[in-house]
Amino acid sequence: MSERIVTMISKEEIAKRVQELGAEISDHYRSNPPVLVCVLKGSFVFAADLARAIDTSVRIDFLGMRSYGEGTESSGVVQITQDLSRPIAGEDVLIVEDIVDTGLTIAHLIDLFRTRAPRSVKVCALLHKPARAKVQVKVDYLGFTIEDRFVVGYGLDFAEKYRNLPYIGVVERS
Ligand code: 5GP
Ligand code: MG
Ligand code: MG
Repeated sequence: MSERIVTMISKEEIAKRVQELGAEISDHYRSNPPVLVCVLKGSFVFAADLARAIDTSVRIDFLGMRSYGEGTESSGVVQITQDLSRPIAGEDVLIVEDIVDTGLTIAHLIDLFRTRAPRSVKVCALLHKPARAKVQVKVDYLGFTIEDRFVVGYGLDFAEKYRNLPYIGVVERS
């Protein structure tokens, strides 16, 4: 069995969309610098590009989460592997996610953050698979809506592989 990756969203398409999202976010937060919460590991590439597409002051923090095992199906179990480095009370939080699939991870995260009394919590996700939603979550800033395929690249993995691909693709086995 060999694996090959078929491109779904090119590096150029991603770059263009990230610039647009950055401009929208900059406008919204112009007078209230947000805390960008990069959800590890999957969002590290997106968050790094997005942060540089934002031209207002931001603080950046990281949260380690795990919702999948080594496979491609959600285990439904969400585990925090690393918490934020600082409190978010009174802050405008912008969660930066790679992908909203069932929505369970982001819903859990929003609930958790709300217990910490931030001023606001919004979500920016690169990808959304609406076909798989188990809970409704509002994605305030969205890169692309995609069909129900397991995607890799641009931070997203399959058993920890492919995070370094500069584009989003689908794994094909033959
Ligand atoms: P959810 O809790 O919304 O079902 O899934 C959230 C997390 O599962 C994402 O942040 C991501 O880490 C992982 N995930 C969901 N769909 C995919 C996918 O198509 N590819 C990869 N690599 N990870 C996914
Ligand atoms: Mg994620
Ligand atoms: Mg993963």
